[in-house]
Amino acid sequence: MSKETTKSGFVNKNNQMNIGRTEEKGTDHGQWFYTIECKNCSFKYKANGSDIWQRKCPNCQGGRP
Ligand SMILES: [Zn+2]
Repeated sequence: MSKETTKSGFVNKNNQMNIGRTEEKGTDHGQWFYTIECKNCSFKYKANGSDIWQRKCPNCQGGRP
């Protein structure tokens, strides 16, 4: 898997964009939370760095909140 997913500006296959790392540690070992913005509806939420590539929008795609 590419490390590109943790760079701000990365957009995954579900049209979810990484807009930057938070100061909050993620729930997976050695991970941080990142702020993700849905490019379909502009909803913002947090995701573990390791999950960014597969996240779906909780607002319009039925993803986990
Ligand atoms: Zn959305």
